[in-house]
Amino acid sequence: MRDDDIVAAARVIGAKRDLIADTAALNELVTRADAGERVADDILELLTLDRRLWEEFRRHVRQGQERPRGPVQDGMYVDLPGDGDPSAEIVYQCSTCGYEFPVFEVGEPVPECCPQGHSPLT
Ligand SMILES: [Zn+2]
Repeated sequence: MRDDDIVAAARVIGAKRDLIADTAALNELVTRADAGERVADDILELLTLDRRLWEEFRRHVRQGQERPRGPVQDGMYVDLPGDGDPSAEIVYQCSTCGYEFPVFEVGEPVPECCPQGHSPLT
């Protein structure tokens, strides 16, 4: 994932004021990125601190890529830090391309198949 992609995702997420209580810090980082600062790491760190932000970020990244790559730089955001109940997350996966769709809440809608239309997610 390139820094530009991270900043672009942060910009979209930061605009979703209805979704997230406090996007001020995120938007400030986006502004700094626009000014030429390298803040991708800071953005990732901020996103991992808030589960809803992190979910949104991952969903957003998935829309643009087949799947996010693993650790990008220091691995800080591979897993949610301080995740209290990892077993609550169910991941549906396409057996063909490996597309993953995590479900965090019971009753959350799950797409019938991956974006490439391979096969039902299981
Ligand atoms: Zn697939």
